[in-house]
Amino acid sequence: MQFKELPSVKEQIMKCVRCGKCRSVCPVFAEIRNETAAPRGHVFMVEMLRDSKVEASQLLYDRLSNCLMCETCSANCPSGIEVHKLNAAARSYIYKYYPNSTKDMIFDTMWTNPGLMQKTIMMMRGAQKTGMQFLARSIGFTKYLPGDMSKAERILTDIPSRSARHLLAEGYRSIGERKYTVGYFLGCATNLLNPQVAVAAVDVLIRNGCDVIIPSDNKCCGLPHLANGKMDTAQELAIHNVKTFNNYQFDYIITDCASCSSALDPKSMQFLLGGTKDEDDAQKFAGKIMDLNRFLIEILDIKLPANENASPIKITYHDPCHLANAQGIKAAPRELLKRIPGVELVEMKDANRCCGGSGTYSVTHYDLSMQILDHKMHNAMETGASKIATCCPSCMMQLRHGIKRENWNAEVVHPVELICESYKGL
Ligand code: SF4
Ligand code: SF4
Repeated sequence: MQFKELPSVKEQIMKCVRCGKCRSVCPVFAEIRNETAAPRGHVFMVEMLRDSKVEASQLLYDRLSNCLMCETCSANCPSGIEVHKLNAAARSYIYKYYPNSTKDMIFDTMWTNPGLMQKTIMMMRGAQKTGMQFLARSIGFTKYLPGDMSKAERILTDIPSRSARHLLAEGYRSIGERKYTVGYFLGCATNLLNPQVAVAAVDVLIRNGCDVIIPSDNKCCGLPHLANGKMDTAQELAIHNVKTFNNYQFDYIITDCASCSSALDPKSMQFLLGGTKDEDDAQKFAGKIMDLNRFLIEILDIKLPANENASPIKITYHDPCHLANAQGIKAAPRELLKRIPGVELVEMKDANRCCGGSGTYSVTHYDLSMQILDHKMHNAMETGASKIATCCPSCMMQLRHGIKRENWNAEVVHPVELICESYKGL
C-alpha cells in the first residue's frame, strides 16, 4: 500500500488535537528541546508530506530519524495516534527519493540473509579477538566508518564464539507430559549476541511441558528495517516468516526478544500486510505470537521449587520500550523475577524510560543515545542492585555499554537466564 493510502497516514493524523502530551513524555524531546524533535512535530511533518505541502528531503528524513521508535508517545496519546508508525511510513517514503547504497547493502543484502549476517558478525569477532579492532581504533581508521559507526563500534564488544543456531538443535521434546507445542522465534540479536538467552529459554520451556521447534529458516523480524526507511524489506521479511511458521501446527510462537514480539504481533502485521493477499495468513501467524515472560506466567504459571541455599541477590528491572509501550507487558517479567528464590527486586526510577539503545539508534545517533543512556544508568545504579534484568537484546547491549562507561560492577541478564540457573542450582 502506498504511503498516502496507509490507514494510519490517511486517517489518524486528523485526530491530533495538538495537546502536547506526547511531547512531555518523549525522551528525545527531553534532550533536544526543539519542536522538530517532538512527536507532535513529527505528526505535523508527516501531515505536510502527505498533503504535498513539503517535499521529501534528506533534512526531513534526518529530523524524523531522531525518533527512537520507543512508542512512548503512541502509548500516551489520548487520541490513540500511533505516532511511531506515521514516522516509520514517512521515512520509508522519503528513503525512496534519497537511497543510500551502504544502507541497502546492510539492510537488504546482509540483514535478510542469516548466513551472511552470521559471517559478518564472526568477522567482527575475529577483528576484536586479534586486536585488529583496537589497532584500527588506535590509528584512527575507524573514523572513516559511515555515520556514527566510528564511535558506536565500541558498543558491539565481546561477541560470543558460537551462535544459538550452533548451540541448539531444531527440535526438543518436553520433559514430562507435553502441554503445548511451541515454535521458538529466534531473533537475530539473541542468536548472534545473546545465545545463552536462547539456550535458557528452550531449557525452561521444555522443563515446563513444551515441545519446542526452532524453524531453521526464520529471518529477522524486520524492525531494524522499519526504523531505517526499509518498509518494503520489512514486508518481505514478514511474508517469509509468516510462511515459515504457518507450515507448522504450533499452539504458540514464543520469543524472548521484546522487539521481535512487538514487530510480529497482530497490530504490526496489520500495519505491514493489511490489505494485501497475505493479510489472513499474517494474522493467523501473529495471533500465536507471545512474549516468553507472559507465556511463562500467564499460560504455564511456572513454579520454581524453594531453595534455602539460594544466595540473596538484588536485581533491578529495565522495561524495554517494545515490551512495555508496544505491548503493555510490565507485570510478567517482574513476577518471574519475584518467583526466583533469593531474588530481591528493587525498582529503579523511571524503569520504563527508554535506555537509548532502540535497535540501531545507538549506531546512527551515538551521542544522543549516550545522553539518554546516562539517565538510565543513574537510575539503575541508585538502586544498589548487582544485576539489571531486561528482555530485549538491544537494551542488553546498550546497558552493558553503560555499565562499562560507568565502570560499575554489575551484570545485565534476561529473566529467563536466572530462571534457568535456579533450576540448575537445586
Ligand atoms: S499526544 Fe496525540 S493528540 Fe496530543 S499532540 Fe501528541 S499526537 Fe497529537
Ligand atoms: S517514538 Fe519515542 S522518541 Fe519517537 S517521537 Fe515517540 S516518544 Fe519520541
